[in-house]
Amino acid sequence: MQNIQRATTTLPGLVRRWLRPVGRRLLGTLVRVETNEPVVALTFDDGPHPVYTAQILDLLRQYRSRATFFLLGRHAVDQRALVAQIAAAGHAIGNHTFNHARMPEISRWQRWRELWMARRALSPYGVPLFRPPYGGQSYGSRLDVFLFGYEVTGWTSHIEDWVAQPATQLAERLRQQLHPGSIILLHDRLANPRDPAAVDRSPLIEALATVLRLSHTTYGFVTVPELIRTGRPVRVPWFRPAR
Ligand SMILES: [Zn+2]
Repeated sequence: MQNIQRATTTLPGLVRRWLRPVGRRLLGTLVRVETNEPVVALTFDDGPHPVYTAQILDLLRQYRSRATFFLLGRHAVDQRALVAQIAAAGHAIGNHTFNHARMPEISRWQRWRELWMARRALSPYGVPLFRPPYGGQSYGSRLDVFLFGYEVTGWTSHIEDWVAQPATQLAERLRQQLHPGSIILLHDRLANPRDPAAVDRSPLIEALATVLRLSHTTYGFVTVPELIRTGRPVRVPWFRPAR
């Protein structure tokens, strides 16, 4: 008893118990989960899209899989029924700002507005997860997101799905990224397409169908909150300007 008392009241004990976890939550970006279970979190950014998101929901239902959708507030307000449908199917809905804002490049007031408006657009379905557009973060943006109570969710890997590629190539790349505890970045819609040919998400959806068909018995496809519960979340310092 005395030992426990001492461990928590000494400075190293306090650092271990309180400051480190708070610091990690304040400054750390979730990038993967250390787990022995064969589970993967597929994440879809920039939606919802009336055609592509609906097709992805059909596929996920077919293979009893779940995913996390980081929705844009401005798209969510146009697609209220779809947002409700995503939530009703058991998927997680995270905040990806209202206008796909580059967080480090806008004022604090604008950041709060982006977070608040998106939160309202996703209400009552949103979970406390935030993904910064372009992965761009600064110390100031981190603090704002923390004050809003969000866990910042990055990714373990992506398949460069904002560049047009044949479905077979996308499927191959996606299969190579399946590892226990991985968080994979995908897009059901492109907020600011740099490659006009990539606006059509059909090849990605075809690739997803292939991967789910081949891998759904080997891997469990779960939401980010479910993934976190399977092991130890890995959070890393992640600061980079929005590209
Ligand atoms: Zn995005």
